[in-house]
Amino acid sequence: MKTIITHDPSETAAVGENLAKSFTGGEVVLLYGDLGAGKTAFVGGMARALGITSRVTSPTFTILNSYLSGRLPLYHFDLYRIQDPEELFELGWDDALASGGVVAVEWVERAGEEVPHDAITVTIRYRGDRERIITIDDREE
Ligand code: ADP
Ligand code: MG
Repeated sequence: MKTIITHDPSETAAVGENLAKSFTGGEVVLLYGDLGAGKTAFVGGMARALGITSRVTSPTFTILNSYLSGRLPLYHFDLYRIQDPEELFELGWDDALASGGVVAVEWVERAGEEVPHDAITVTIRYRGDRERIITIDDREE
């Protein structure tokens, strides 16, 4: 378990970049935190570490954004708007988890029982306007 304090979105992205640079595929990152905490910013940094050059935007409406141009595929889910965990199957949830790529998930609280095991957990908390407390729970560390 590791705790880092950041002071702007680029610092939060850098923490994500640092986490993902050693990824070899199959990693699942669950991001917890309120709206606007910086979860998507963090995933943007992860994408950079994977050699993805396109800008990471929130998959709020699409639920899943896939980035296939890097050294590993990145599947970025935001489950905020799903109504029922059953929807996950149509969205390619199982496929993404079995793909050997990297999976990042915002609002996994909506996934019901379908929460992946052996995931890396990232929690981002507010501490003032631009300050965030990021805790990373990576069982391998
Ligand atoms: P989430 O995906 O958790 O809803 P986003 O990453 O989309 O959050 O947005 C985070 C918002 O908070 C952005 O508007 C960003 O500019 C702002 N922000 C301010 N300080 C920070 C920080 N230290 N880390 C991340 N985002 C920050
Ligand atoms: Mg987001």
